[in-house]
Amino acid sequence: MSTKTNHSISVKHIEKSRINEIDFNNLIFGNDFTDYMFECDFKNGSWNNPTIKPFGNLSISPVAKVFHYGQAVFEGMKAYKDDQDKIWLFRPEDNFNRINKSSKRLAIPEFPKELFFKALESMLQLDKDWIKPGFGNSLYIRPFVIATESGISASPSSEYKFMIVCSPAHAYYTGDIKVVIAEYYSRSADGGVGAAKAAGNYAAQFYPTNLAKEKGFHQVIWTDANEHKYLEEAGTMNVFFRINDTLVTAPISDRILDGITRKSIIALATRDGIAVEERRITIQELIEASKNDSLKEIFGAGTAAVISAISNFSHQQVVYYLPKITTSFAKMFKNKLMEIQYNKSEDTFGWRYEVSSK
Ligand SMILES: *Cc1c(COP(=O)(O)O)cnc(C)c1O
Repeated sequence: MSTKTNHSISVKHIEKSRINEIDFNNLIFGNDFTDYMFECDFKNGSWNNPTIKPFGNLSISPVAKVFHYGQAVFEGMKAYKDDQDKIWLFRPEDNFNRINKSSKRLAIPEFPKELFFKALESMLQLDKDWIKPGFGNSLYIRPFVIATESGISASPSSEYKFMIVCSPAHAYYTGDIKVVIAEYYSRSADGGVGAAKAAGNYAAQFYPTNLAKEKGFHQVIWTDANEHKYLEEAGTMNVFFRINDTLVTAPISDRILDGITRKSIIALATRDGIAVEERRITIQELIEASKNDSLKEIFGAGTAAVISAISNFSHQQVVYYLPKITTSFAKMFKNKLMEIQYNKSEDTFGWRYEVSSK
């Protein structure tokens, strides 16, 4: 059966939901996908044929440019269900703006705002049973764009596919994260694509991250590519350092992803009277702070895990341990963010976006 919504997104319905095959108590992040996916093609200078259809494989030329030149960007966002079964998104306009910012940097045409939101809402209405109520349950949403024109001339594609797929998720406890500070490899460089959610940024991190894992670490703290002196990001998360009661985080630049979790933490801290410094911070300063016991916490911030506390860091073969503290900023901010996301606390910043139930 095929129907058209009034937004002219055509919907091809599933015959039978796969939801009963999913063990919602034992989800592995990013492993299972919902019944539907959204697809829209850019051709002859415009986005055409927006369609929601059953989740399934694509048929794409082996010489589509994405496979050869990595012209691809993505986003990561979540939908939450409250106790009244209302569905919420968290600052989705920021994800929309960011995917277009990333696209621009990768010479990909921007996607229209109205269509982005209509596609999101229609998908979430069709897949609403996949969003389980309860604190910690969510639906991870992955919008992405790939270059689909066939031909291996090294130039931007003239054709693209914009898609949205969704994966049920549960807020996982990351455990104690051990990190190593990068001394040789870099995630991004001045004038590069570090500020874009470009697919290739992740590919480039896999090898150095594997090397770190072989040595018993979970993640790499990336430093600036010029001097390996300034602390920039933790794996695929923004990073915060708590020195005494002040939060320090690297300023947004070409090399640093402008995380929505990061800026929400900064806003919450500022509102609640916690000092925040967006400034460059050196490895040396971190080591000094660890030695004189003013370093209280390090944590990563990003949509997938919300906040991940780091238990120790290593630099030049020396391991520095974070103290055990009872009143952790990491826990407090995670809780404050999640209470807003799950419609359990007042939304003083206007961050919540209710998905209409049709
Ligand atoms: C996506 C991402 C983040 C986190 O951004 P959020 O908007 O908070 O999810 C941080 N760093 C990198 C490199 C990322 O790709």
